[in-house]
Amino acid sequence: MISVVPKPQRVRLLSQKQYLYQPTEAKRFLEEGHGQEGYRLLIDNEGIKIYCGTEEGAFRAQITLKQLYTEKKLPNIEIWDFPKYQHRGYMLDCVRHFFTIETIKKQIQAMAMLKLNVFHWHLTDDQGWRIESKKYPLLTEIGAKREQTMGDGKPVSGFYTREQIKEIVRFAKQHYIEVIPEIDIPGHMTAAIAAYPLLSCDGKEVKVSEGPGIHKNVACAGKDSVISMLGEVLEEAAELFPCKYFHLGGDEAPRDKWDACPDCAKRMVENSFKNGDELQAYMMNALCERLEKIGKTVINWNDGMKAENIKDSIVMHHWKESKQCNAATAREAAKGRPVIYSPFFGYYLDYPYGMTSLKKTYTYNIGVKGVESENYLLGLEAPLWTEYVDTEEQLEKQTYPRLCAVAERAWSSVKSTNYNEFTLRLKRFYKILDALGVKYVTIENANPAFIEGKKAVLRFYLNALKVQIKERKKKKKEGIKA
Ligand SMILES: [Zn+2]
Repeated sequence: MISVVPKPQRVRLLSQKQYLYQPTEAKRFLEEGHGQEGYRLLIDNEGIKIYCGTEEGAFRAQITLKQLYTEKKLPNIEIWDFPKYQHRGYMLDCVRHFFTIETIKKQIQAMAMLKLNVFHWHLTDDQGWRIESKKYPLLTEIGAKREQTMGDGKPVSGFYTREQIKEIVRFAKQHYIEVIPEIDIPGHMTAAIAAYPLLSCDGKEVKVSEGPGIHKNVACAGKDSVISMLGEVLEEAAELFPCKYFHLGGDEAPRDKWDACPDCAKRMVENSFKNGDELQAYMMNALCERLEKIGKTVINWNDGMKAENIKDSIVMHHWKESKQCNAATAREAAKGRPVIYSPFFGYYLDYPYGMTSLKKTYTYNIGVKGVESENYLLGLEAPLWTEYVDTEEQLEKQTYPRLCAVAERAWSSVKSTNYNEFTLRLKRFYKILDALGVKYVTIENANPAFIEGKKAVLRFYLNALKVQIKERKKKKKEGIKA
């Protein structure tokens, strides 16, 4: 058995011979038919040969070679390899907690070892604004700071300068990874509204959020001035990211403020919109048009795409698995809209292993029910939200080994029945993570026994509940003072 993760598409062990070649001795030959990322790797008496059509293919082959190089030996082998899906991603929330560019670079190195090719960077939310804007400096001067998190008394602040972002984009590119930024609109905008209250419906001052959950502060969809300012923010941000895609969030936007806003009401009447979903689609379409003019394709989370008037060009990011959201994904997939697949119950890395075990992630059914063809699937992505993740070590332990499972399903044509064999290869992959200094959870702990698993889930929810009660008490106290 050869220990490579993700598993290559076709492997032919030619003999039991082993060679003392160094991976750096590999010779490269041009060979057509391997696509953008594919390659053929041959190790025999004549040395190491990589056959491919692109630099990227050669890079992926080198990764395989590094993993094959165990005990300073290489096997007599031939491998044909290419990815199953074009989008293979990892999302990191750098808002709920802030992570340094050193931490991010380390994750990019580990991603490259798994042949992942998309780093989805969640940069704005209720709890912070983490991307520098020269045009609107208050976004970070005010929006990047909060006094504490869930009553812990510890201030959190931090944002990425435009130069630091360019550095990350460059570093990722060296690893054949694209960086897709996410600026979440119209919900999850408390930090932006704290900086510029005129972005909201009522213009009232608010504080950068100190707690988790869904917030009622949303950007006003009725004021042209708001859409225009957000357009400028997006265009300025887009200059930093050469990637074709731009994620505009669109998830979890409560309608309370819109329902009470005369400008939003006017927009609804003028356009005969039936509900807030259609109003949100109007706003998203307008921002999407601005980004399309500079060559970008917009991505939205699936719960923001329930309205039929949402632009056909927006890629859907499936996360929410409610009946209504599954139906929206199935409807759009059947129409041929491309979908990125990040199912909540299978791929969300922020939940304990007792709820989402390694085995569950690996064997999770890919694709929405009711759609036969898989052609609509652009690819797979695993998100890590960091409300309860505040250190690099914890970030990594939530991520690994589950990200290895998602990476394997995204690259390889393996079936879920391949799980046991995958874990054997994973043990060897842990040495790669060790070499990078990346922490992980053992395979046993990533599949806790029933009782242990339930206990961990209970602890997770009790902690979340404690936090919510604290928040509610705090809000009540502030309300009384006001
Ligand atoms: Zn409004």
